[in-house]
Amino acid sequence: MADLIVLLGPPGAGKGTQAKVLSRELNLAHISSGDLFRDHLSRKTELGVLAQGYMQRGELVPDNVTISMIRERMANTDCAKGAILDGFPRTVPQAEALDLFLADSKMGAVRKAPYIKVEAQVLVERLGGRWSCRAGGHVYHEKFNPPKAAGVCDVDGSALYQREDDKAETVANRIRVYFEQTTPLIEYYRRKGVLAEIDGAMPIEDVTRELLASVR
Ligand code: ADP
Ligand code: AMP
Repeated sequence: MADLIVLLGPPGAGKGTQAKVLSRELNLAHISSGDLFRDHLSRKTELGVLAQGYMQRGELVPDNVTISMIRERMANTDCAKGAILDGFPRTVPQAEALDLFLADSKMGAVRKAPYIKVEAQVLVERLGGRWSCRAGGHVYHEKFNPPKAAGVCDVDGSALYQREDDKAETVANRIRVYFEQTTPLIEYYRRKGVLAEIDGAMPIEDVTRELLASVR
């Protein structure tokens, strides 16, 4: 049986930031659907080309392609022990597909779904100041979590960039899409008895402490 943790929360809640720490502390793979799509995009694969328009508009990539991308990723040997899922599932059909896949592949079931709660107003400021690293998906914030040297990732030395979809107009749409399509997952996991609510407005280290306590 694999140990599966699903991080829930709006764009900018801190899922990627926290997933990096959790994956290290718990020795589990980190699967970010957004990073996977961005990797496809940079390699100009068929999937990347298909996803591009949706991502630029701040819409969700269709469920069928997203689900098959994740299924393929989870079949990798590094997921045998388990994984932290960051950004997937984002719709009820995706969550149902994940449950089916976990049962079929004898991996088990989602053990915990921490929901990192942050108000919409705060998200705009977080995403507006986010700097991401191209190589390993590490994230910084110009005010809240600056890198040691401006524009350079502390971990792998790669260049930092601001995501095209972190512009204010796209952020507004992403938050709208989150409220419409992803918030039903909170009830979905609550009904399964695996939801844990975490206050995501606290400093990064405090959120980490609460998250670790909720999954241990
Ligand atoms: P998500 O993966 O949920 O979209 P990120 O982890 O990329 O969110 O975080 C979004 C931005 O907010 C980043 O710039 C990150 O450095 C910053 N951030 C994350 N957690 C916190 C926090 N608890 N307090 C302040 N800023 C944070
Ligand atoms: P993220 O890096 O999680 O903010 O995701 C960036 C973009 O990738 C989203 O705005 C979507 O266009 C797409 N994306 C990421 N994860 C999913 C998913 N689970 N379902 C559909 N689209 C997704």
